Amino acid sequence: MSPEDLRQRIEYFRDLGVKDLYRRDAVAPGAPVQEAVAPVVEVELPSLAPAGDTLVQISQDIGDCRRCDLHKGRNKIVFGDGNPQAQLVFVGEGPGADEDAQGIPFVGRAGQLLTQMIEGTAKKEGIPLTRADVYICNVVKCRPPENRTPEPQEMEICGQFLFRQLQVIRPKAICALGSTAAKALLGGKDGVTKLRGKWHKWQDIPLIVTYHPSYLLRAYNVEAKREAWEDLKKVLHFVYD
Ligand code: URA
Repeated sequence: MSPEDLRQRIEYFRDLGVKDLYRRDAVAPGAPVQEAVAPVVEVELPSLAPAGDTLVQISQDIGDCRRCDLHKGRNKIVFGDGNPQAQLVFVGEGPGADEDAQGIPFVGRAGQLLTQMIEGTAKKEGIPLTRADVYICNVVKCRPPENRTPEPQEMEICGQFLFRQLQVIRPKAICALGSTAAKALLGGKDGVTKLRGKWHKWQDIPLIVTYHPSYLLRAYNVEAKREAWEDLKKVLHFVYD
């Protein structure tokens, strides 16, 4: 590979927001590119987002993943579910117990609420849409112990696969469910209350942030439920009108 090809490849990955997780110095901004990456880049960068990437390829690359400690407690890797050509992708935080047991995202109580929210809002708004029409995945693919919030390092490691999923699907819009998904996709420290109600972008894809369904299951969140309904209406009309 010529030095110019190498430089362009690195810029490409930087633009995608993909950091080399195995050799952080390989793509550190401002690093003297050739010296820093030449020995390893041929081997490692192609595995992050190969040309002609597919969901099957990403799943194969995840493999029997042991890149972080979350693998120690998992039963099943929860890759994603739904239409691979979806125009709308929902991104949650990470699998819970039910998802870990079944290998499918959002199948527990929060998942049932999410399904109701998607299908109920669509029906009310006259949009013919079922859960099977959208794609649903999480920031981390293995269940965090006791359902704790994923650590930044776990999000970073698994985030490369989430980014690839989004790049392959290239939906018309993304809906980030909760602050962990928002943080993974937008960076920054703002929580849902601050981020919801307006459009953001992940790369060039419009993104809405709304409350995580688990949060909405708490009985006192009546106002949050109304707001989530508004957020969902907004994104559904944007995508399907
Ligand atoms: N919560 C999530 O964030 N994701 C799931 O898949 C289930 C619950």
